[in-house]
Amino acid sequence: MSNKKGRVFSGARPTGRQHLGNYLGAIRNYVALQDDYDCIYCVVDLHALTTLENTDKLREWTYEMALDWLAAGMDPEKGTIVFSQSHVPRVVELHLLLSVVTSRGWLTRLPTFKEKVRQQPDNVNYGLVGYPVLMASDITLYKADTVPVGVDQAPHLEFTREIVRRFNHHFGDVLVEPQAKHTDFPKVLGIDGQQKMSKSLNNHIEIAASPEEIERRVMQMVTDPSRRYRSDPGHPEVCNVFTLHGFFSPDQVAQIEDDCRSAAIGCVQCKRLFANNLADYFAPFRERRATLAADPDQVWDVLADGARRASRIATETMAEVKAAIGLP
Ligand code: SF4
Repeated sequence: MSNKKGRVFSGARPTGRQHLGNYLGAIRNYVALQDDYDCIYCVVDLHALTTLENTDKLREWTYEMALDWLAAGMDPEKGTIVFSQSHVPRVVELHLLLSVVTSRGWLTRLPTFKEKVRQQPDNVNYGLVGYPVLMASDITLYKADTVPVGVDQAPHLEFTREIVRRFNHHFGDVLVEPQAKHTDFPKVLGIDGQQKMSKSLNNHIEIAASPEEIERRVMQMVTDPSRRYRSDPGHPEVCNVFTLHGFFSPDQVAQIEDDCRSAAIGCVQCKRLFANNLADYFAPFRERRATLAADPDQVWDVLADGARRASRIATETMAEVKAAIGLP
């Protein structure tokens, strides 16, 4: 390990092109953490199999997501490992070994499992039950001591910590118990202003969108519903455009608030300003993305190199785990 503060692990399911919610909720944190930590960022494609109806898009979504991650600033030159979960199959081996210290009842009582059962009652597969164990395997296989989590994700990490404690209690102090790094994961609403931004709800704005596409989507955004006429004073505190101005127009947000409340600015003008600021903010990103996309092999090479480096750590961990268990 380097002289950084520790080793971070985080993973995300392959969902293709990333949107503002992904960016504000995860990617910008991932990028910032690289300065202080050795970072391992994983496209968790095996996790995705538990809920996907078909797998046709897995390869494309992995590529598009990794492309966005790299263009946004995840940087192997800083020591960051970016890879696909399935490229390091040792995680499946560890998953099995951790499963024997994990109670089945414990897993099926988890609120996240019950939620999945509600969402896909016709496909309650074994992978869904073991999902938290695979997650624990991801983190512990790479000896990550730090996991960035939002407040509502803390119970997930606590589950991993519990599995580690059980394993270490049975077999000796082998696995690293990860600590939560509480990070600001704002809940980003979609253009409907109601629900969390999500591709499946088609209420998202892609970070790779062209300025024209950004403007088109921003113009569809729902604003303060009580502001029916241009002359009506607005209530920025209930307007999602205003919330997002906070991230992308920090120098103008105070003025926008005053102008909205006094009806000095109309929603169309306000949205146009937001669309321009958003397009400007992501202009360097779009440029880097276009350069990378011109040679798709670059992205696959980064993932392959990441898998090689991740495998080296995984092999060491598994040797220690097997020795501790007493497997010949
Ligand atoms: S003026 Fe801007 S902040 Fe105010 S309601 Fe309209 S879009 Fe929202």
